[in-house]
Amino acid sequence: MTADSLVEPPRRTPILARPEVLVVGGGIAGLAAAAAAAREGAETLLVEKLGFLGGTVSAVTLGGLCGAFRHVGPEQELRPVVGGLWNELRERLLARDALGPPRRSVLVRGVHGLPYDPERFKIVADEMLAACGVRVLTGATVAGTTREGSRVTAVFVETVGGRYAIVPKQIVDASGDAEIVARSGGAFHVSPQVQAPSAMVRMAPVDRATFSTVPRAAVNAALEGAVEAGFELPRTMVAVFPYLADHEVHVNATRVFKPGGTPFDTSDPWDRAAAEAEGRRQAFLYEAAMRASLPGFDRARVAGIGPVLGVRESRLIAGQAVLREADVMAGVAPVDTIACCAWPIEDHAPGRATIWRPLPDGAWYGIPFGSLVPLGFENLLVAGRCLSAEHGAQASARISLACLAMGEAAGMAAATGMPQVAVLQARLRERGVILHAG
Ligand SMILES: Cc1cc2nc3c(=O)[nH]c(=O)nc-3n(C[C@H](O)[C@H](O)[C@H](O)COP(=O)(O)OP(=O)(O)OC[C@H]3O[C@@H](n4cnc5c(N)ncnc54)[C@H](O)[C@@H]3O)c2cc1C
Repeated sequence: MTADSLVEPPRRTPILARPEVLVVGGGIAGLAAAAAAAREGAETLLVEKLGFLGGTVSAVTLGGLCGAFRHVGPEQELRPVVGGLWNELRERLLARDALGPPRRSVLVRGVHGLPYDPERFKIVADEMLAACGVRVLTGATVAGTTREGSRVTAVFVETVGGRYAIVPKQIVDASGDAEIVARSGGAFHVSPQVQAPSAMVRMAPVDRATFSTVPRAAVNAALEGAVEAGFELPRTMVAVFPYLADHEVHVNATRVFKPGGTPFDTSDPWDRAAAEAEGRRQAFLYEAAMRASLPGFDRARVAGIGPVLGVRESRLIAGQAVLREADVMAGVAPVDTIACCAWPIEDHAPGRATIWRPLPDGAWYGIPFGSLVPLGFENLLVAGRCLSAEHGAQASARISLACLAMGEAAGMAAATGMPQVAVLQARLRERGVILHAG
């Protein structure tokens, strides 16, 4: 970024904790990793830079929690592909009136989502981790690590009270951006054409009864009309979800690229700041375009923008195994499968339409444990959207409930001292995790 630099004075850093398992990142993968590790009896600490848990699920906000099912037959019957901790999280969300029934897409086969309340998700996450006995440190940003050989020996966090060291035995990097792997000199790659980030938007008031009469294809056509009328919309194949409040909708529409479709580098501070601002600019552009062109939107205002830009793809680690696009589409279940997924490849590439590639009817694939094992480390695993995967494969496996399933496996493995895969799989099955969805 700059050739200019200075040397910071050396300092002594107090040690805050020596947990058996440190989970970095409180997104849905980190939540599951921490819960699973603690359930296995490991003293577990989770650190999260934001002031609350949920990561993308609560800080970006989504149209729905997706990836729970595969779709079978002409009626698209829903059959579960995720179990384990998802069963518990689902019950807790239902008990808090924070989860709706699955809704199927009318446009894309194999697509469904469960509407949820991101604010209630935060408190459910607090409650679930407290019940598991996880220590949670929000407001703690990982700022560095030390490494000796193949071990990460310390993780440094910046907090409201200053800088501290954490000295863990095992670490699960669930930061989404592979922060621990990258800061510890591990290998990763960033796809030359990462999927677009999006700012997620709530709009209100929207006359949902009127809007619900508009066929989905007509929504896209109306927005194409808005483009012709002069609104420079980066995307017209948008998703509009009824929100839990009667008069609100959740709009997944923005597509945050530089002019010409060049990706922002979301790990570069200047680019990141510019991308956040571009997301906000687009939110209000869609407000104007939707007001002008969509039935039911004539009084709609931006009621909220997810406080954090939604990053779909950034660093992908170099792991012992690579989840490949061909294996996703062919429904391959490797011998070291630790989670199942049936979500289509959903690529938010430049262009006004999202590229959807559904799996064959009823198909699912297995996520290999090796894709969570970064090369060169003996006490570090990853979980969630930074797994070792090809760009196209990550465009499927990044779906929230697949990230949860990866987290459960990584947390359990970390707590039980990186066991043989067969032992891990047997323990996951005992916990109700689905390892064969057929
Ligand atoms: C715009 C968008 C729309 C999406 N739509 C859907 C959808 O409708 N349905 C669906 O199921 N999925 C959807 N997804 C995908 C899914 O939500 C994410 O891929 C998934 O939630 C990622 O979970 P994660 O735990 O791996 O990572 P994240 O959610 O990114 O969590 C990582 C956590 O680590 C923390 N962290 C990062 N760096 C540090 C650090 N240095 N120190 C401390 N903490 C740190 C972050 O604050 C964050 O809380 C969408 C994603 C995006 C971006």
